[in-house]
Formats: sequence, C-alpha cells, structure tokens
Amino acid sequence: MRGQEILARYPEARLVEVPSHWNIPELHRNEALVEDWARVKRTVLVLGVRKTLRCLPFERSADVVAPAAANGCASSCSYCYVARRKGYANPITTFVNIEGILGAIERHASRQGVKTAPTQADPALWTYELGTNSDLSVDAAISDNVRDLVDLFRRLPHAKATFATKNVNPALLGYDPQGKTRVRFSLMPADIARRVDVRTSPVAERIAAMNDLYRAGYEVNVNVGPVIVYDGWLDDYAALFTQIDDVLSPEVKRQLQAEVIFLTHDADLHEVNLRWHPRGEDLLWRPDLQETKVGQASGETTLRYKMALKRGYVADLRTLLERHMPYCGVRYAF
Ligand code: SF4
Repeated sequence: MRGQEILARYPEARLVEVPSHWNIPELHRNEALVEDWARVKRTVLVLGVRKTLRCLPFERSADVVAPAAANGCASSCSYCYVARRKGYANPITTFVNIEGILGAIERHASRQGVKTAPTQADPALWTYELGTNSDLSVDAAISDNVRDLVDLFRRLPHAKATFATKNVNPALLGYDPQGKTRVRFSLMPADIARRVDVRTSPVAERIAAMNDLYRAGYEVNVNVGPVIVYDGWLDDYAALFTQIDDVLSPEVKRQLQAEVIFLTHDADLHEVNLRWHPRGEDLLWRPDLQETKVGQASGETTLRYKMALKRGYVADLRTLLERHMPYCGVRYAF
C-alpha cells in the first residue's frame, strides 16, 4: 500500500525490481558511480520491506532505537556514517511495511509501561530514536511514514519519539505532535557546513525553523555536531552560539537541551570522498589530530580525535556553550 502510494508520486520513474533492497550490486558495489554520488541521490529511490522489526536498547539520545522506516539519505554530508556501510552509493531506501514498524514500536512501548526513573534521554517518557540511518525531514518528503510515526507517538502514553535533522521541511509543521516528538537540529558554523553538509538546509534556516517547529508542537533540541576542529574553530563556535541565542524565542530556550558529538571519520569513506568531494576532506581528514578506534560492539574501525586532545576540546566547547547559552543543558558531550 505505502509502496503503491510512493510509486504513484513518481509516475515517470523506471521501476527496476531487485531481490534485496540491502544488496544491490549495481548501486552499492558499482565503483563507477562514486563520481556521481550526488546524482544517484537525486535520481534513485529504493523501496524495500524491512525484515527486522526489533526495538533495541540505547543510552545516548534515546532509551530505545526503533526499527527505522528508512535507510540512506538525499543529503550528502561527507562524514555521514550511514554512507560508510553502503560502498559507492547511498540513496534513500524507504521501507514500505510501515504498519509492521508501527506495530513493533507500539508493542514494545506497551511492554515498557510507565517510566519510573529518569534517564539521560528523558526524565519522564521512554524515548525512541527514529533516525539513526536517515534524516526524517527528508524522508517526510518521500512518503507519509514520518507522519504515521508522529501520529503513533502522540497517542502512546509513556513514550516519545526523537530524531536529528539537518534539513527544514515545512510539511512537519502540520503533523501535530503535541510535544511527543523531539527534533534535534544538527548545527555547526555555517562556513564549515557549506563544505561538509552537502545538500542540506543552510544553518541559518535550520535555526529559524526551531522556533517554527516548537510553535507547531515539537520539543526542539540542538545537536552540536559533528564538531570539527580546525584553526579558529572555537571563534566560529562562539559566533554560532551567539547566532542561536539571538534567534531562538524565550519559549524554545526554556526547553532547550544540547547533545555534543565530535567528528569521527573513516579511512574507506575518506577514499570515496576524495573522488567526489575532496574539498571537505581538508577538514575531516586530520591524521595529525586523529587516532584509530575499534568499536567495542561493532568491531568497526573509525578515526576520532586523539583522546589526549579531545578531552580539552570537549571542555573548551562546554565552557563556550555555558558562556553564550547558559539556559541550555547538555545531555552528553563526547
Ligand atoms: S543528513 Fe544525516 S543521514 Fe543525511 S547525509 Fe547528512 S549525516 Fe547522513
């Protein structure tokens, strides 16, 4: 049904059936596509049926990671970790079995029952992360999946939804979340965003949209990330925090919380990026400042700022945030 709705929106699209949405050799392993990175995102949409419908425990922005209704993104942030797993192309995959996804979340929330103790994610409601592998503001332009998710959380008594975004989609203003969906706008200095947040909304538009979404019934938070270190970065972050402080309404400031995440990168993604967007790599690829880290659970190798340096970076940024936006709590910073 959802699949048919989406196909009807793109009557000129050529339909190519594939055995698996997750493994499309013509896309993900087609090295020749890398130079066409952005064009593939503009012209290819994968529709799939999501098989795994599990809700998984989580401990940062949320208590639970919900089964995602999409994977991949029309934006092209050059540090994006979703792309790290997709090889040479990363267009949006939209999952059409939204009823199954909604049902799995509802059953999980009902088993959770009342939240009796606060967590880092939220003091009162079980918080479900909806967007670890896509940007829901963009997904909302493809189908009604996001509207259906916002509808679901509006009526779940002990749960709320959350997702991070770098895009402004006015369609979200009509979803009526009644405080049960938290949107986290990812922000960084505008000049840097122009280089690495490729095909996203300008930073000034994102900040302005925070007031609009709050008025439309969303909880609105800020995701300071990924924080990229370069000569003069703290001056640029001071200017960013001043800009946020100038624009946000008193009501938005009163409920504001921040999450701070420093950049991680990846050697394979660096090689891919050099072939379609080398300009961003001057900022992202800093072997002089970075070290290799092997993920405990995933076993994946990533690059992060050297711990001996990063401790100081985190402390400096927190001090700056406190100075310019003292009303803004920090959920976590790492
Ligand atoms: S908006 Fe998010 S999901 Fe999309 S490319 Fe950027 S980092 Fe990746």
